[in-house]
Amino acid sequence: MEYFNLKRPDERASFCEAARRGLGSGQGLFHPASIPSVDPASLLLAPRFERYRIVLEPFLAPDFPAGAIDEMVSAAFTFEAPVVKVGDAYALELFRGPTLAFKDFGARFMAQCMARLRGDGPMTILTATSGDTGAAVAHAFLDAPGIRVVVLYPKGRISRAQEQLFCTLGGNVETVAVRGSFDDCQALVKSAFDDMELKSDLGLNSANSINICRLVAQVLYFWDLCAGIPEELRGAGLVVSVPSGNFGDLTAGLIAKAMGAPIGRFVAATNANDTVPRYVKTGRWEPRPTVSTASNAMDVSRPNNWPRAERLLSERGWKLDARSVGEEETVAAMRSLDSMGYTGEPHCAVAYEALRRSLLPGETGAFLCTAHPGKFAESVEAALGRRLPVPAAIAESLGKMNLSIDLEPDAVSFRKYLLGT
Ligand SMILES: *Cc1c(COP(=O)(O)O)cnc(C)c1O
Repeated sequence: MEYFNLKRPDERASFCEAARRGLGSGQGLFHPASIPSVDPASLLLAPRFERYRIVLEPFLAPDFPAGAIDEMVSAAFTFEAPVVKVGDAYALELFRGPTLAFKDFGARFMAQCMARLRGDGPMTILTATSGDTGAAVAHAFLDAPGIRVVVLYPKGRISRAQEQLFCTLGGNVETVAVRGSFDDCQALVKSAFDDMELKSDLGLNSANSINICRLVAQVLYFWDLCAGIPEELRGAGLVVSVPSGNFGDLTAGLIAKAMGAPIGRFVAATNANDTVPRYVKTGRWEPRPTVSTASNAMDVSRPNNWPRAERLLSERGWKLDARSVGEEETVAAMRSLDSMGYTGEPHCAVAYEALRRSLLPGETGAFLCTAHPGKFAESVEAALGRRLPVPAAIAESLGKMNLSIDLEPDAVSFRKYLLGT
């Protein structure tokens, strides 16, 4: 597959090149030149890893042959993505990986790609996180030979459990607490990538959801979702609600649908950071300052994957139902899920509430559960008025020392830090 730069369509790259570069020139996103179609009926009958290989092959060809893809898939996806019935809806649980959030899918697959396409030079994985990406990337690349990992996050704006999960690893993983918002962190990452000297000296590579490796890995579980829903409920009447921050997950879903996944339409569910819902309504792109919410992995007001999502939507003439869910409604949704016997955290609650509002009679609803409730225990416990068991992965990290350094949101200081000067 060839990829092109959405900002400079003449700039083309192979999968490996796009993966290695992260962003194209002018900070443009690499986007598949065409979306391969598959036969959904036979694909949905295939065993999981075979299905994964069939979906990935056209995106990775000719750089990775089928045999390599099989190895990468079985090394990366060591955990399931089960579909669970909640009331009349279907929940896709994406939090069974080592850092308890769906980011494990993209990050672990990316680590497999990078290990194979790294040359002899230095490689630095530089990523900004609003909470979950950092943990997933740090764990996925921990101890990867010759790879330095630098993770930026907004100081004091992620939960303690989130922070401990990735700021205690040491080794080749460095964590930087930026005194600012997630958007400030993203801006620092972008400034480093625009610095050609820095980029080549350090072999900078982004592990953000803008990287094509992560995106293609996320396409896979939309097929898992379809496979887990009774055949008669798939197709035009199937509505999938995606809790959205940077809109990588939604983009992956749109790619799956464009390939032929039997999904009728998508609901993009945001919290109060509602740039996209307002844009869909008014046609005006007017990001506001980011506000902190309980679903903090979605506290993003300049979603960096949106150009890809918009491209897919406009190419196919698809309409997107984008809805913003407030904090009180999020709490109410957690309670409502609980009354159906399901413990959900704020991100999936946002998706569930947006789905509930969007769903028309006769449609079947599905929503993505992107994090383990134990990862957002404070919010869940406050909403439900009871204690949750602490997941083992978190319990283990809580006792360790936080190794992060603090930094001002300033490109010059950040450059110095990266160069060790
Ligand atoms: C990252 C994240 C999201 C948002 O995903 P995007 O692809 O950035 O839209 C939602 N929920 C959780 C738990 C996340 O970590």
